[in-house]
Amino acid sequence: MGKNKVHLVQKTESISVNEISVYDDLIVDRNARTRCLKLGIKSGKTYKERPEKCPHCESKKIVGLQVLGAYNKILFWICDVCDKLSLRFPKRETEKYLKNGEGFWTNASDWDNYLEEIG
Ligand SMILES: [Zn+2]
Repeated sequence: MGKNKVHLVQKTESISVNEISVYDDLIVDRNARTRCLKLGIKSGKTYKERPEKCPHCESKKIVGLQVLGAYNKILFWICDVCDKLSLRFPKRETEKYLKNGEGFWTNASDWDNYLEEIG
């Protein structure tokens, strides 16, 4: 099986990893000018710690999102209800991390093992 160029993302609730999806799945506008805009992030407001509630729908179900290959800790906050992302770091810094992550390669068949290792 060949290698796919994908960006893995892990949703984390405190320390336990509960889901893995592909970075591409998060992209809402491929033609947007910046990586943040591609992900639908318009606001420049940053949340160093998990926000109390979603700034879009006010849900309290916010989880940390780690983009593998980009940054080895939480990079975004994602609302589990409306799926909107919020920044943890300033946009310029976030763009830099995402750019680093674009060279990250993995093999989809390794994911099961990976999930076992980190689970
Ligand atoms: Zn929301």
